[in-house]
Amino acid sequence: MKRFYIETFGCQMNVHDSEKVAGTLIARGYRQVDKPEQADLILYNTCSIRDKAEQKVYSRLQQFKRDNRNGRVFAVLGCVAEQEGERIFERAPHVGLVCGSASYNRLPELLARIEDGDRRVTGLGLDAQETFETPVTQRDNPHRASLTIIEGCDKSCAYCVVPATRGPERSRSSQLILTEACELADAGRGEIQLLGQNVNSYRDPSPAAWDFVTLLRRVAQTPGLRRVRFTTSHPRDFVGEIVDAIDENPVLCNHVHLPVQSGSSAVLERMQRLYTRPEYLARIEWIKRARRQIAISTDIIVGFPGETQEEFDQTLSLLDEVGYDSVFSFKYSPRPNTPALALPDQVPEQEKGRRLLVLQERQRAIQIRRNSLLIGRREEVLVEGFNAATGQWIGRTSQNRTLNFTHASLPAPDGRTLVGRYLPVRVTRAGPNSLVGESADLI
Ligand code: SF4
Repeated sequence: MKRFYIETFGCQMNVHDSEKVAGTLIARGYRQVDKPEQADLILYNTCSIRDKAEQKVYSRLQQFKRDNRNGRVFAVLGCVAEQEGERIFERAPHVGLVCGSASYNRLPELLARIEDGDRRVTGLGLDAQETFETPVTQRDNPHRASLTIIEGCDKSCAYCVVPATRGPERSRSSQLILTEACELADAGRGEIQLLGQNVNSYRDPSPAAWDFVTLLRRVAQTPGLRRVRFTTSHPRDFVGEIVDAIDENPVLCNHVHLPVQSGSSAVLERMQRLYTRPEYLARIEWIKRARRQIAISTDIIVGFPGETQEEFDQTLSLLDEVGYDSVFSFKYSPRPNTPALALPDQVPEQEKGRRLLVLQERQRAIQIRRNSLLIGRREEVLVEGFNAATGQWIGRTSQNRTLNFTHASLPAPDGRTLVGRYLPVRVTRAGPNSLVGESADLI
């Protein structure tokens, strides 16, 4: 039996793609191993969103430069594969398979060629019409799962490689999605995350022709599901009915991730984000007017070409105005084949770094304030793990906050675990990135 090892870089879409690639291999009779040294086939599922992520893959490949003995095959999948194509063979001649994510449906055919002895096989191109469907998906987490609803992206944000690496939008049929949601719930996975580059533009290709809100409502009715999340939303396509659906159905988590990228309308225009600051804030208003308290998180890029101090200050003021519960912030990273490469006035690296620190400091204070509001409240968590060093269980709330807590009677010497259970926990303390609490709930 052949053995494979897969390492994943980048976003949740990539992580879930790897679960499907692993399933494809298992369905062909391969066995997954934990160490590259034990494998006949070594796959790197790559990310090119930032230069650093791309370099990491090449440095991994360098480690094994002379190691394709005994017919061992190296494969580069994902965004770097699509972006670099056959150039990868020049930089890393020991690589045998290069396949972009829009070509994953061809993996069984490509693997068959590798097994027949072909030394260089490629699956490239963005003309995909179909989504990546697998007979088996190799999910390691028994309590939570990702579920793709849409692949690719039809937007053209000026800094982003995704349209050039993942291809055009393709939605999966609502029937396939509902069937998979039922299977996951039946297998005991109480929490699922609907995934897509832009979930809001979901369009059911089947005659039912559901939009995203209809799909969301129907998935939330799946018997056995306790929590449904979704990511990522694009502000331009985010509609008020999504907030109504969250209000109506407690299974839908009270958390919305709505990437803004900049607080300046002028920068947003240069980024080709298709909304202005006031339009974005109107959507935030819908979320804040909900009956449930919906946590809001976002992504921000600092130092986009031409970003002035005044434009950066507008991003800082947006942080204050929205009061985000968490922020993922990055320095702008010029990427190949993106329109922003041609923009003048690149912000110096040092200045980008300074702005990032200022922004993160401002947001840290906001998070301390917001998290403190939860002290004394009871929050339901899904228990995800145990930290032996602190003696605390690690839980996640519906609002996607980490809540570390002690339990009145566990850990017990008999090794009983809380992992996978939903428990009420009283919040006793708050930090910038997590909460602390205690649970006396009988189990
Ligand atoms: S919406 Fe913009 S940032 Fe998001 S994947 Fe599409 S092009 Fe990239």
